[in-house]
Amino acid sequence: MRKPIIAGNWKMNNTVAGTKQLLSELLPLVGDVTETEVVVCVPFTDIATAAAMTAGTNVKVGAQNVAWADKGAFTGEISADMLKEAGAEYVIIGHSERRQYFGETDESVNKRTVQALKNGLKPIVCVGETLAEREGGITEEVLCRQLEGGFSGIASEQMAQIVVAYEPVWAIGTGKTATSAQAEETIAYIRGKLAAMFGKKTADAVRIQYGGSMNPSNAKELMAQPDIDGGLIGGASLKAPDFTAVVKYNG
Ligand code: PEP
Repeated sequence: MRKPIIAGNWKMNNTVAGTKQLLSELLPLVGDVTETEVVVCVPFTDIATAAAMTAGTNVKVGAQNVAWADKGAFTGEISADMLKEAGAEYVIIGHSERRQYFGETDESVNKRTVQALKNGLKPIVCVGETLAEREGGITEEVLCRQLEGGFSGIASEQMAQIVVAYEPVWAIGTGKTATSAQAEETIAYIRGKLAAMFGKKTADAVRIQYGGSMNPSNAKELMAQPDIDGGLIGGASLKAPDFTAVVKYNG
């Protein structure tokens, strides 16, 4: 049985004051949820605040990127040690916004994932096709490349600790959600590809999230799909009632 995991991706939103405000609204609503793992992936400067506020609750804290090196001359990067010390347990890697605006590649995603695992951070690795790629009929080819590149050299035991987030780029922040059938079909493809790479047992253990305009009105139907184990939530994670409704998708 795979435990569902709903993670909020706050992106570049909320100062420390905003973090305190949002978490003070959210924690009374979801702090004791046990049937679903709940994570908030906050900006680097908010991690320590979020970790202090969520201590003793069931909500976990994540970051939105991690360097592939331990330390050194990497201006602007942040190390796994730093994230862990601040209180992060999860880290989003290879989000489409990082691929699109900051030159993230399958190779850099792979190096960051290896580094996160080496340091005991749990990676949430994002994959997904653009609209042009979907319309061009190459969704599976793109995902295949991202999965083979992103998870190159990773052992099966390590793969079982990784959360994969399938996020069709055309559905992120656009209000356009993949239909539950589209999301299920593609996520089942991803699980099949992971089975070919790591064996069926590992693939059956990996949690795969859907991300892309997931919100209170579509969460239940998406989460009812057999291969969808959770959600990576952008916009709707910034409002406590909306994020709560997604976390409590079963009512
Ligand atoms: C995301 O940022 O990962 C995301 C899915 O955003 P949104 O929910 O706003 O589409």
